[in-house]
Amino acid sequence: MNFTREVIKCTDFSARKHKNQRRKDTEKTPYINHPIGVAYILTEEGGISDLQVIQAALLHDTVEDTDTTFEEIEENFGKEVTGIVREVTDDKSLPKMERKKLQIEHAAKASYKAKLVKLADKLYNLRDLERCTPEGWTPQRVQEYFEWAGKVVQGLRGTNKALEAELDVIFRRHDVIC
Ligand code: NDP
Ligand code: ZN
Repeated sequence: MNFTREVIKCTDFSARKHKNQRRKDTEKTPYINHPIGVAYILTEEGGISDLQVIQAALLHDTVEDTDTTFEEIEENFGKEVTGIVREVTDDKSLPKMERKKLQIEHAAKASYKAKLVKLADKLYNLRDLERCTPEGWTPQRVQEYFEWAGKVVQGLRGTNKALEAELDVIFRRHDVIC
């Protein structure tokens, strides 16, 4: 298997799926910056070179946020990658608060590979929130997000020292005990 070809195929797939989406920051950054950035955190800061983890990071929001199906992911990237993406995908049919509660509960039960993707996803999003407050978010909403993320990360501990240390720096800045 050619690692470079697989990574580029996956990046291209994700970019086409997210092409009409923007992040919530005031600059309305293209959404694809996020999955690419999550994969980059894993290779650069987490020291991860496992292809399936990198593919799952690139694809982690495609089913949750676009018309992509798990079947499509499986056809293109196989069962293992699909399994990881499935683990990190929220059930959108549930109310938002229920989904947030389930993320906390599911974190500790997730596989090692899914935990890596979740750690990098949380780290990217918290850094994004520190960089710029999304339009309409009060300081209280931002703080609540940090606190909720802290509860999710509690269940992910013992997975990757470097990523957890970076998250701890952020949590300390926001007085989140986790
Ligand atoms: P949202 O789920 O609405 O938004 C956060 C998610 O948006 C992230 O997890 C991330 O998910 C994605 N995202 C896109 N752009 C950005 C960005 N620039 N920075 C960070 N994340 C981005 O937030 P919540 O509903 O969780 O709100 C936070 C807290 O505020 C909650 O705990 C809630 O209790 C409280 N609150 C919520 C209100 C609401 O209407 N929901 C109203 C008032 C308070 P991804 O990785 O998928 O891209
Ligand atoms: Zn994400």
